[in-house]
Amino acid sequence: MMMTKLLHLEQHPGVNPNSFKSTITSVSDDRIELQSTGYYPQGGGQPADKGVMVGTDFECKVVDVRKRDSVLHYITDMSGTPNVGDQVECTIDTLWRNQLSAMHTAQHLFSALANEEWGAQTVGNQIGFDRTRIDLQFENRDAFEADYMSDMVNLAIEDNMSVKMDFRPSQELIKDPLVRINMDRMPPNIDVWRTISIGDLDVCPCAGTHVLQTGDIPPVEITRVKSKGAGRLRIEYILN
Ligand SMILES: [Zn+2]
Repeated sequence: MMMTKLLHLEQHPGVNPNSFKSTITSVSDDRIELQSTGYYPQGGGQPADKGVMVGTDFECKVVDVRKRDSVLHYITDMSGTPNVGDQVECTIDTLWRNQLSAMHTAQHLFSALANEEWGAQTVGNQIGFDRTRIDLQFENRDAFEADYMSDMVNLAIEDNMSVKMDFRPSQELIKDPLVRINMDRMPPNIDVWRTISIGDLDVCPCAGTHVLQTGDIPPVEITRVKSKGAGRLRIEYILN
Protein backbone atom coordinates (compact mmCIF):
# COMPACT_ATOMS: atom_id res chain seq x y z
CA MET A 1 0.00 0.00 0.00
CA MET A 2 1.13 3.52 -0.81
CA MET A 3 0.23 6.66 1.11
CA THR A 4 -2.41 8.65 -0.75
CA LYS A 5 -2.06 12.44 -0.86
CA LEU A 6 -5.22 14.00 0.59
CA LEU A 7 -6.08 17.01 -1.56
CA HIS A 8 -9.06 18.14 0.53
CA LEU A 9 -6.74 19.07 3.42
CA GLU A 10 -5.26 21.93 1.36
CA GLN A 11 -8.67 23.15 0.23
CA HIS A 12 -11.03 25.60 1.89
CA PRO A 13 -13.93 26.16 1.69
CA GLY A 14 -14.99 22.55 1.23
CA VAL A 15 -18.06 23.46 -0.83
CA ASN A 16 -18.33 23.08 -4.62
CA PRO A 17 -15.26 20.82 -4.85
CA ASN A 18 -13.45 20.72 -8.19
CA SER A 19 -12.99 17.51 -10.10
CA PHE A 20 -9.44 16.18 -9.93
CA LYS A 21 -7.09 13.96 -11.92
CA SER A 22 -4.96 11.19 -10.50
CA THR A 23 -3.34 7.83 -11.27
CA ILE A 24 -4.47 4.38 -10.16
CA THR A 25 -1.99 2.61 -7.84
CA SER A 26 -4.10 -0.44 -6.96
CA VAL A 27 -7.29 -2.13 -8.24
CA SER A 28 -9.48 -4.90 -6.88
CA ASP A 29 -13.09 -5.97 -7.51
CA ASP A 30 -14.65 -3.47 -5.17
CA ARG A 31 -12.03 -0.77 -4.66
CA ILE A 32 -9.44 1.47 -6.27
CA GLU A 33 -6.47 3.30 -4.76
CA LEU A 34 -5.06 6.51 -6.22
CA GLN A 35 -1.82 8.52 -5.89
CA SER A 36 -3.85 11.45 -4.63
CA THR A 37 -7.52 11.99 -3.88
CA GLY A 38 -9.89 14.90 -3.51
CA TYR A 39 -12.59 12.66 -2.02
CA TYR A 40 -13.13 13.17 1.70
CA PRO A 41 -12.53 9.86 3.51
CA GLN A 42 -14.96 9.13 6.35
CA GLY A 43 -13.65 10.54 9.60
CA GLY A 44 -14.24 12.94 12.48
CA GLY A 45 -17.96 12.12 12.38
CA GLN A 46 -18.27 13.26 8.75
CA PRO A 47 -19.37 10.68 6.14
CA ALA A 48 -17.20 10.02 3.08
CA ASP A 49 -17.68 11.77 -0.25
CA LYS A 50 -19.33 10.06 -3.21
CA GLY A 51 -18.84 10.61 -6.92
CA VAL A 52 -17.88 9.25 -10.31
CA MET A 53 -14.45 8.05 -11.52
CA VAL A 54 -13.69 7.94 -15.24
CA GLY A 55 -10.63 6.47 -16.96
CA THR A 56 -9.87 5.92 -20.65
CA ASP A 57 -11.27 2.39 -20.54
CA PHE A 58 -13.74 2.46 -17.66
CA GLU A 59 -16.26 4.36 -15.59
CA CYS A 60 -17.59 3.63 -12.09
CA LYS A 61 -19.31 5.15 -9.10
CA VAL A 62 -17.40 5.92 -5.91
CA VAL A 63 -19.76 5.06 -3.05
CA ASP A 64 -17.50 5.13 0.02
CA VAL A 65 -14.00 6.31 0.86
CA ARG A 66 -11.96 5.04 3.82
CA LYS A 67 -8.54 6.07 5.03
CA ARG A 68 -6.28 3.23 6.07
CA ASP A 69 -2.55 3.42 5.25
CA SER A 70 -3.71 4.53 1.84
CA VAL A 71 -7.18 5.76 0.86
CA LEU A 72 -9.58 3.07 -0.35
CA HIS A 73 -12.24 4.16 -2.86
CA TYR A 74 -15.12 1.67 -2.78
CA ILE A 75 -16.67 1.39 -6.22
CA THR A 76 -19.85 0.05 -7.85
CA ASP A 77 -21.48 0.05 -11.32
CA MET A 78 -18.18 -0.62 -13.10
CA SER A 79 -18.26 -0.53 -16.88
CA GLY A 80 -14.95 -1.34 -18.59
CA THR A 81 -11.70 -2.41 -16.95
CA PRO A 82 -9.49 -0.20 -14.77
CA ASN A 83 -5.75 -0.92 -14.54
CA VAL A 84 -2.87 0.20 -12.36
CA GLY A 85 -1.24 3.24 -13.99
CA ASP A 86 -4.46 4.49 -15.61
CA GLN A 87 -5.09 8.23 -15.49
CA VAL A 88 -8.49 9.02 -14.02
CA GLU A 89 -10.74 12.05 -13.75
CA CYS A 90 -12.89 12.12 -10.63
CA THR A 91 -15.94 14.20 -9.85
CA ILE A 92 -17.29 14.70 -6.34
CA ASP A 93 -21.02 14.79 -5.55
CA THR A 94 -21.46 18.52 -4.89
CA LEU A 95 -24.92 18.45 -3.31
CA TRP A 96 -23.75 15.81 -0.82
CA ARG A 97 -20.45 17.60 -0.02
CA ASN A 98 -22.07 21.05 0.32
CA GLN A 99 -24.75 19.85 2.72
CA LEU A 100 -22.23 17.93 4.86
CA SER A 101 -19.93 20.99 4.91
CA ALA A 102 -22.81 23.16 6.18
CA MET A 103 -23.87 20.50 8.72
CA HIS A 104 -20.26 20.13 9.87
CA THR A 105 -19.66 23.87 10.26
CA ALA A 106 -22.95 24.12 12.19
CA GLN A 107 -21.57 21.42 14.50
CA HIS A 108 -18.57 23.65 15.28
CA LEU A 109 -21.04 26.41 16.24
CA PHE A 110 -23.13 24.10 18.45
CA SER A 111 -20.03 22.73 20.18
CA ALA A 112 -18.43 26.16 20.70
CA LEU A 113 -21.60 27.88 21.95
CA ALA A 114 -22.59 24.99 24.26
CA ASN A 115 -19.09 25.23 25.69
CA GLU A 116 -19.29 29.02 25.98
CA GLU A 117 -22.72 29.03 27.63
CA TRP A 118 -22.76 25.87 29.76
CA GLY A 119 -19.15 24.68 29.80
CA ALA A 120 -20.26 21.59 27.88
CA GLN A 121 -17.68 19.38 26.19
CA THR A 122 -18.44 17.71 22.87
CA VAL A 123 -17.79 14.00 23.36
CA GLY A 124 -19.14 12.66 20.07
CA ASN A 125 -20.82 13.65 16.84
CA GLN A 126 -22.28 12.12 13.71
CA ILE A 127 -22.70 14.48 10.79
CA GLY A 128 -25.51 13.48 8.43
CA PHE A 129 -27.06 14.77 5.22
CA ASP A 130 -30.55 15.04 6.77
CA ARG A 131 -29.77 15.28 10.47
CA THR A 132 -26.72 15.60 12.67
CA ARG A 133 -26.24 14.63 16.29
CA ILE A 134 -23.83 15.90 18.91
CA ASP A 135 -23.21 14.35 22.32
CA LEU A 136 -22.51 16.99 24.96
CA GLN A 137 -21.16 16.38 28.45
CA PHE A 138 -22.38 18.93 31.02
CA GLU A 139 -21.49 19.77 34.60
CA ASN A 140 -25.21 20.46 35.03
CA ARG A 141 -27.26 19.32 32.07
CA ASP A 142 -30.50 20.66 33.62
CA ALA A 143 -29.27 24.15 32.72
CA PHE A 144 -29.41 23.31 29.01
CA GLU A 145 -32.22 24.93 26.99
CA ALA A 146 -32.74 23.71 23.43
CA ASP A 147 -34.49 26.90 22.24
CA TYR A 148 -31.70 29.06 23.61
CA MET A 149 -29.12 26.78 22.02
CA SER A 150 -30.68 27.02 18.55
CA ASP A 151 -31.18 30.80 18.96
CA MET A 152 -27.47 31.22 19.71
CA VAL A 153 -26.46 29.14 16.70
CA ASN A 154 -28.87 31.00 14.40
CA LEU A 155 -27.50 34.35 15.63
CA ALA A 156 -23.97 33.13 14.86
CA ILE A 157 -25.22 32.20 11.38
CA GLU A 158 -26.77 35.67 10.94
CA ASP A 159 -23.49 37.27 12.08
CA ASN A 160 -21.90 35.73 8.96
CA MET A 161 -18.56 35.14 10.68
CA SER A 162 -15.63 34.10 8.51
CA VAL A 163 -14.55 30.46 8.65
CA LYS A 164 -10.79 30.23 8.10
CA MET A 165 -8.47 27.29 7.60
CA ASP A 166 -4.76 27.27 8.36
CA PHE A 167 -2.05 25.03 9.76
CA ARG A 168 -0.93 25.76 13.31
CA PRO A 169 1.62 24.19 15.66
CA SER A 170 0.19 22.26 18.61
CA GLN A 171 2.22 24.40 21.05
CA GLU A 172 0.32 27.44 19.80
CA LEU A 173 -3.08 25.70 20.01
CA ILE A 174 -2.46 24.56 23.60
CA LYS A 175 -2.12 28.23 24.63
CA ASP A 176 -5.05 29.56 22.56
CA PRO A 177 -8.09 30.25 24.80
CA LEU A 178 -10.43 29.79 21.81
CA VAL A 179 -9.42 26.12 21.52
CA ARG A 180 -12.18 24.39 23.45
CA ILE A 181 -11.13 20.79 23.03
CA ASN A 182 -8.58 19.25 25.35
CA MET A 183 -5.38 19.09 23.28
CA ASP A 184 -4.03 16.52 25.78
CA ARG A 185 -6.53 14.07 24.29
CA MET A 186 -5.28 14.61 20.74
CA PRO A 187 -2.60 12.33 19.25
CA PRO A 188 0.73 13.63 20.68
CA ASN A 189 2.77 12.73 17.59
CA ILE A 190 1.22 15.48 15.44
CA ASP A 191 3.14 18.78 15.56
CA VAL A 192 1.06 20.85 13.14
CA TRP A 193 -2.72 20.77 12.93
CA ARG A 194 -5.10 21.77 10.20
CA THR A 195 -7.12 24.33 12.13
CA ILE A 196 -10.57 25.80 11.55
CA SER A 197 -11.24 29.22 13.11
CA ILE A 198 -14.71 30.79 13.22
CA GLY A 199 -14.66 34.57 13.78
CA ASP A 200 -13.40 35.18 17.31
CA LEU A 201 -15.65 32.41 18.65
CA ASP A 202 -13.80 29.16 18.11
CA VAL A 203 -10.55 27.52 17.04
CA CYS A 204 -10.57 23.78 16.41
CA PRO A 205 -8.15 21.27 14.90
CA CYS A 206 -10.22 19.57 12.20
CA ALA A 207 -9.66 17.66 8.93
CA GLY A 208 -13.27 17.98 7.74
CA THR A 209 -14.91 20.17 5.10
CA HIS A 210 -16.52 23.51 5.97
CA VAL A 211 -18.29 26.51 4.46
CA LEU A 212 -16.50 29.86 3.93
CA GLN A 213 -18.68 31.92 6.28
CA THR A 214 -21.35 31.06 8.83
CA GLY A 215 -23.99 32.84 6.71
CA ASP A 216 -23.65 29.97 4.22
CA ILE A 217 -25.35 27.67 6.77
CA PRO A 218 -29.16 27.52 6.57
CA PRO A 219 -31.01 28.17 9.86
CA VAL A 220 -30.77 25.27 12.31
CA GLU A 221 -33.58 23.58 14.22
CA ILE A 222 -33.09 21.18 17.13
CA THR A 223 -35.37 18.20 16.52
CA ARG A 224 -34.48 16.01 19.48
CA VAL A 225 -32.76 16.13 22.87
CA LYS A 226 -32.14 12.78 24.47
CA SER A 227 -30.46 11.67 27.70
CA LYS A 228 -27.29 9.67 27.13
CA GLY A 229 -26.41 9.02 30.77
CA ALA A 230 -25.09 11.08 33.67
CA GLY A 231 -24.59 14.71 32.62
CA ARG A 232 -24.80 13.83 28.96
CA LEU A 233 -27.28 14.92 26.28
CA ARG A 234 -27.57 13.97 22.63
CA ILE A 235 -28.73 16.93 20.53
CA GLU A 236 -30.10 16.29 17.05
CA TYR A 237 -30.54 19.10 14.51
CA ILE A 238 -31.59 19.73 10.94
CA LEU A 239 -30.94 22.62 8.52
CA ASN A 240 -34.02 24.47 7.27
ZN1 LIG B 1 -14.62 20.70 11.31
